Amino acid sequence: MRRKFIVGNWKMHKGPADADSFADGLKRALAGKNAAVDVGIAPPFLSLPAVVARLKHTGIQVAAQNLHAEASGAFTGEVSGEMLRQAGVAYCLVGHSERRQLFGETDAHAETKVLACFRSGLLPILCVGETLSEREAGHERDVVTRQLTAALGKLQADQVPSVTIAYEPVWAIGTGKTASPLQAQEMHATIRGWLEASFPAFVARSTRLQYGGSVKGSNAAELLRMPDIDGALVGGAALNMEDFLQIIAAAG
Ligand code: PEP
Repeated sequence: MRRKFIVGNWKMHKGPADADSFADGLKRALAGKNAAVDVGIAPPFLSLPAVVARLKHTGIQVAAQNLHAEASGAFTGEVSGEMLRQAGVAYCLVGHSERRQLFGETDAHAETKVLACFRSGLLPILCVGETLSEREAGHERDVVTRQLTAALGKLQADQVPSVTIAYEPVWAIGTGKTASPLQAQEMHATIRGWLEASFPAFVARSTRLQYGGSVKGSNAAELLRMPDIDGALVGGAALNMEDFLQIIAAAG
């Protein structure tokens, strides 16, 4: 019942012209194919309008990489969920580890940003995951459970399945080190267990859990075969058409 969902996070890559041409290529490559897989891309803010226009009526989803918690105000350099909705964006990443590690975002920010997504009509993709030292200390489950509780714990049960949860171990992001399928499955089962313990049963059954961290064409199939892995959040490999299409094909 959970459709696989593959999302490419372009980070700070591809300005409007490159983004438009990639989106056009993706649209052509997927036309009439992979109807069983949901696909999305998360370009930088400035490239969103071109990508939204190019992907209109294709079913390929467009996500922002961040939002500000307020709808408007004196927040120089920020973009609100309401503005993203107005621009035709459907999804938004929240709490990506680069936001947490490089821009000081905390669990409290993740909570307010998830709420801002619901207020503005965006679908959140909440990123959670432990650092290498947290894993080495044996704290990975506690860290992920804490991040989930902070960001989602106060939501109404019927809101939660609109959230995609991306488990992204920080030590696997952009490092070429992927969690083994068993390591990833273990944490996905923990996340699903947390959903089961926190909400009525339909929530755990219907909420999609993505894995992220050096997913490539060559390792996507074995990860996506795991019972609790419903998709992938892809960084580096989503910048290259051939690699991204290979990952989408592995999900189908
Ligand atoms: C990411 O940025 O969410 C990510 C998973 O990056 P990469 O695939 O490059 O590790």
